[in-house]
Amino acid sequence: MSFEQSKWVWMNGKLINWSDATLHVSAHALHYGSGVFEGIRCYHTVAGPALFRLDAHLARFYASAAIHGIQIPYDPGLLEDAICETISRNGFESCYVRPICYYGSRALSVDPRACPVEVAVLAWPWAPYLGAEGLERGVRVTVSPWRKFESQALPTTAKACGQYVNSILAVREAVDRGYDEALLLDAAGNIAEGSGENLFVVKDGRLVTNDERSSILLGVTRDSVIELARTLGFRVDVGTIAIDDLHSADEAFFTGTAAEVTPIREVDGCQIGDGKRGPVTERIQRAFFTITEGGDAHFSHWLHAVSACSSPAAVNAVTPGIATGGERWS
Ligand code: PMP
Repeated sequence: MSFEQSKWVWMNGKLINWSDATLHVSAHALHYGSGVFEGIRCYHTVAGPALFRLDAHLARFYASAAIHGIQIPYDPGLLEDAICETISRNGFESCYVRPICYYGSRALSVDPRACPVEVAVLAWPWAPYLGAEGLERGVRVTVSPWRKFESQALPTTAKACGQYVNSILAVREAVDRGYDEALLLDAAGNIAEGSGENLFVVKDGRLVTNDERSSILLGVTRDSVIELARTLGFRVDVGTIAIDDLHSADEAFFTGTAAEVTPIREVDGCQIGDGKRGPVTERIQRAFFTITEGGDAHFSHWLHAVSACSSPAAVNAVTPGIATGGERWS
């Protein structure tokens, strides 16, 4: 990952230089993780750069904020424009986009509501998260000693900043033991998800993934793969995934915006299937990338061309700098 090519950041209504996009060390979000964010990929297509499932990501962004009682002080149309403008001004043909809404600096009581609600959009080129080789050969995972938090502790369907300390603990521990990624179990001992990905297993040509009852973030890529796989004629069931289901699977793969569709070839030293990318995974992966390249008319509505945005409003948006958590954008 490299931020070097990223010159512009949209912050509180303005496009500013990367080096100016700073906030004070007393910011509430830094201390307590009080914010929500999204990760969106923008792909190179023949029609220019296009965002994958922008609407779904923005819907989750506002839903995450609502769950945490944060009112994002811009409407979704303006954020769409801000995202497109950030990509175009940086001159990116493809990149990863990170909108974030967080409590800034005013007070450090745990209740954040005295603090300003701020919004920023970052974009930078980001290679496949688990490596280009991982996409082809599959990755090695381990079941983490850290459990995924339950929704009674933190709502798992929201994508909030502070909850990622759980993922950080798990991925560090896994990497220290030589694995590519961690799998976290839920409170019942079934598999929840990776530190930043959802899980699918394939058995006898049938796909299984889990849902929020297994304490997962409901991934946009997961949703896309369910629909895509069914369109390709595969049966997809949503239920629990026990560790044994993974061990006995013919194939398994991760889905995520950063990780895309990444095969899993091994879990804790046990080979999954043939220990390489399986044929079902490969078929889904290829179909997924055909869509993101703009090559599948059936799914073209999943792509939002950056050129389709009407940007100027987003760069001169009224800065809600002093708006607090109690104020609305409309
Ligand atoms: N689970 C977690 C914990 C994640 O961080 C992510 C990445 N956003 C996902 C699943 C996959 O979600 P998506 O496909 O929307 O990126």
